[in-house]
Amino acid sequence: MSAAPATLDRIRRHLVGLRMPRSLEVLEHLLRQLERGEISALEAIDQLLDEELSLREGRRVKTALKMGRLLSIKTLAGFDFSFQPSLDRNRILTLAGLDFIDRHEVVHFLGQPGCGKTHLAIALAVEAVHAGRSVYFTTLAELISSLAKAEREGTLRERIRFLCRSQLLVVDEIGYLPVVAGGGNLFFQLVNARYERGAMILTSNRGFAEWGEVFGDTVVATALLDRLLHHAVVVRIEGASYRLRRHADLLPDSTAHRQPHASDPPPRRRGRPPKSPAPELNGAA
Ligand code: ADP
Ligand code: MG
Repeated sequence: MSAAPATLDRIRRHLVGLRMPRSLEVLEHLLRQLERGEISALEAIDQLLDEELSLREGRRVKTALKMGRLLSIKTLAGFDFSFQPSLDRNRILTLAGLDFIDRHEVVHFLGQPGCGKTHLAIALAVEAVHAGRSVYFTTLAELISSLAKAEREGTLRERIRFLCRSQLLVVDEIGYLPVVAGGGNLFFQLVNARYERGAMILTSNRGFAEWGEVFGDTVVATALLDRLLHHAVVVRIEGASYRLRRHADLLPDSTAHRQPHASDPPPRRRGRPPKSPAPELNGAA
């Protein structure tokens, strides 16, 4: 079967008019396959549309990742769960189902530097983008500095409104850098605005008991935790740094002995959380 040149011409013009560049590109190839009887007409239409849709979807994801400031891409597939035996893989896979976003919950990843907090936060955010949810990624330091700038310029309300637009807000690195004076207050205004309206993922190397110190203000820290632990999932990662896994011998004993190794005995206390020296508000949902 061969298409009349006039019809083919019209199809091409339609594809241009409809802005379907990928379909235009594969048209010839599909027609040849059709002529050779390798595919049916229905299959040809199906493939023509499928190619266009894949191109658009790829572009949508790329733009959404850029807009959400997810510049270094990490995936769940790229996370080696065997390196972190304390971490419940199923719990992370459940989070990847993204119900926490629809329920406007807060996910906390807690653990030492290098244990994979940012990796998991980004991987869940990437899953969310693929599923069509809007996402915005920032560190606490960047977030507070952007809020402080907006406050100075008299645009704090707009900035908070902007930060409430995404269905998922990731705030990375709580506790690494000291928060500037007034910073806790600004963060609280944002958290309060998103409370029960939008989901968040927070990562921290400090326990909740230390938030007073992190924010330099126990009253603000208590108010923050009140909101951030109400509908929350707390994931503690007990293991050591993935970055330093090949250099355990260079580390001080207290850190080095935490490096799991293939020849290690299986981890103790399976299923029971280890006792933590600092009183932790653990267990929210
Ligand atoms: P954290 O945010 O806890 O300090 P990161 O998530 O940034 O740690 O992890 C440090 C580096 O190690 C990143 O490049 C990350 O992709 C990698 N990484 C950490 N844990 C794992 C893991 N279990 N499997 C694969 N890569 C990991
Ligand atoms: Mg990190």
